[in-house]
Amino acid sequence: MPSASTGDLRFAVIGAGMAGILSAVKLKEAGLNDFTVYEKAGRLGGTWRENTYPGLSCDVPSHLYCYSFALNPDWSHLYSPGDEIEAYFEGVAEDRGVLRHVRFGDEVVSCAFIDGRWHLTTDQGVHDVVDVVIAATGVLHHPKYPDIKGLDSFEGAMFHSARWDHDVAIDGARVGVIGTGSTAMQIVAATVDRTEKLSLFQRTAQWVMPAVNPAYTPEERSGFRQDRRLIEAVRDSVAQLFDHFSDGIINAGSPEMEMIETFCLDNLENSVTDAELRERLRPDYRAACKRLVVSTNFYEAIQRPNAELVTDPIEALEPGGVRTVDGRLHELDVLVLATGFKVDAFVRPMAVTGRHGADLGQVWADRPGAYLSISVPDFPNFFMLNGPNGPVGNFSLVEVAELQFGYIMQLVERLRAGESREISATQDAMERLEVARVEAAKNTIWSTGCRSWYLDDRGIPAVWPWPFSQFRREMAAPKWEAFDVRT
Ligand code: NAP
Repeated sequence: MPSASTGDLRFAVIGAGMAGILSAVKLKEAGLNDFTVYEKAGRLGGTWRENTYPGLSCDVPSHLYCYSFALNPDWSHLYSPGDEIEAYFEGVAEDRGVLRHVRFGDEVVSCAFIDGRWHLTTDQGVHDVVDVVIAATGVLHHPKYPDIKGLDSFEGAMFHSARWDHDVAIDGARVGVIGTGSTAMQIVAATVDRTEKLSLFQRTAQWVMPAVNPAYTPEERSGFRQDRRLIEAVRDSVAQLFDHFSDGIINAGSPEMEMIETFCLDNLENSVTDAELRERLRPDYRAACKRLVVSTNFYEAIQRPNAELVTDPIEALEPGGVRTVDGRLHELDVLVLATGFKVDAFVRPMAVTGRHGADLGQVWADRPGAYLSISVPDFPNFFMLNGPNGPVGNFSLVEVAELQFGYIMQLVERLRAGESREISATQDAMERLEVARVEAAKNTIWSTGCRSWYLDDRGIPAVWPWPFSQFRREMAAPKWEAFDVRT
């Protein structure tokens, strides 16, 4: 039953992707029904709405990449495809009555903390005044376009991987893909057989962790339906694997890390038959330094007769295709820019003004930061899910968001109980944690010498550098001394 003071707290959730839907479900469960979810697009789904490229999938097993409170016995595969994942999130939102709280097509452009409450304005001119803001605005959201000479001169079809143009035919076309991240690898594997020719422009080779992706049989799915413990068992075993993985990557000298490297090396040695191609695919840095690519079929795809791995650097784009520095013109009909995302955008470009006019853009002028990725000093009652420096990369961001939401709810409980009116991390707590984080980051695999989106402007990994188990413990209960709690 809602407490007597429940009606006094109003919430705004910004973003109706995985984390926004989670927030809405959990607020409702807590009896906190006075909230609006602001979604700039016309549909739910966040990253799973934006990304529709062929081969889209999640390399976290589906039974883990879902809410713990909405297990899904019907996942088709160990790693289910993107449209299935999107349908899952939409289904949860519908089932849990989230939709009636969502304002679609309303982008929050500003949030200002005035007289103890947050004043929101959307691009549609809507104003709202709330007690608590939950920014569920995603991590890898704003596409990064490459800085390549002549980019606009290409006369074929060209689009970013997160803006796939389904009106463009790739069947029988000469297709180029720039980039070798997880996205590009999935696109290459899914499209090579449809194209006349597929050219993959590789600036940096990637280590590839081998995987298999079996479909769940009707019997297995029926078993999952009948006995939830079977799903829990799958989740537990995958979570254990991920814990080993996290123990490995945060300690570059660990035996777990050695195992990861061996898997990747064996995959390269055993899967690529042509010695010259193998060498061009061999990275010159350690596995998992960049975000590890997990693939069942990339090496197979790049060895197709109509596939070409282009390792000569790109000189420029021209009307007919991509010119590489060796002078060759790679003629193309379609060019896919799988060049990643602006990783430090977080809640931006929204203008957020905290206590005494503090401007989040200014506070984050050097780089984004937050206490435990959740709270920024002087931005009271403004909490982020999957905010800066969190456990990203090869983990289930669903699990991360659930743990963070549980933590935020403990902060909210104090507001709800009337024990305090404003809660934000202290500057001291944030700075101390940041010093420790930067120190710990030096031992991680991400610091062993490679270019990656994990690294901030100083070359320091902008991620959680401790075991995932430590993150779970940290999220279990707030350390109140780290918070500026005002009544
Ligand atoms: P990404 O990992 O940032 O990769 C971008 C690629 O574009 C890199 O290979 C980069 O080369 C290349 N690139 C960028 N600018 C270039 C330029 N000017 N010229 C040539 N190459 C250029 O992006 P992403 O593949 O979209 O993946 C981003 C993240 O999304 C992943 O790391 C992952 O966290 C997530 N993701 C997850 C899944 C999943 O299955 N869970 C699937 C897709 C994406 P360099 O390496 O040389 O910088």
